[in-house]
Amino acid sequence: MSRKFSGDELVIASHNQGKVREIAQLLRPHVARFASAGEIGLPEPEETGTTFRENAELKALAAATASGRPALSDDSGLVVAALGGSPGIYSARWAGPGKDFRAAMERVHSELPEDAPRNAHFVCALSLAWPDGHVETVEGRVYGELTWPPRGDRGFGYDPIFVPDGFADTFGEMEPESKDRISHRADAFRRLLAACFT
Ligand code: IMP
Repeated sequence: MSRKFSGDELVIASHNQGKVREIAQLLRPHVARFASAGEIGLPEPEETGTTFRENAELKALAAATASGRPALSDDSGLVVAALGGSPGIYSARWAGPGKDFRAAMERVHSELPEDAPRNAHFVCALSLAWPDGHVETVEGRVYGELTWPPRGDRGFGYDPIFVPDGFADTFGEMEPESKDRISHRADAFRRLLAACFT
């Protein structure tokens, strides 16, 4: 039986304003007030974990213990089977300090042998931690195939080279509402709501 969120304030353990807005939007019906790690001056912990789950948990626990309030974090990325799971937890880092995802997509393409299978999936781990050290973590996934060249200018990150199973368009070509119904993040939030908010 997972622990339920019962307070009225939640810290969103992210310094990324886009992520903070998106998470607050999704949880608004269940949480009265939000604070972001940036707003309350929490430091950004180093992502030293070896899995999405470990990185999400260390970010949520650091924010919950430093703030004395429940905190939620997410960690996500693209997993390419034929690259041994890369870029994986290094998905953001493959784009470098300039956040150049065109270069990150080029790297995926150039490292993938021509005849290698194209299957890949996105993962999103969400962790909700309490100041006493308790943590609940869920993981969402969406499976698909890589395509080249990149298509579409919606979305972000690796969206233009990812075609979800059962669809012809890349995430970069899809309407945002369509992506939001089937994405790894949507899957993870459905699991989190069921586990901790209902
Ligand atoms: P994080 O902010 O450290 O969790 O890094 C997540 C990284 O994974 C992003 O910078 C993107 O490169 C990649 N990523 C995660 N979710 C998506 C998605 O929905 N579309 C495209 N790229 C994604």
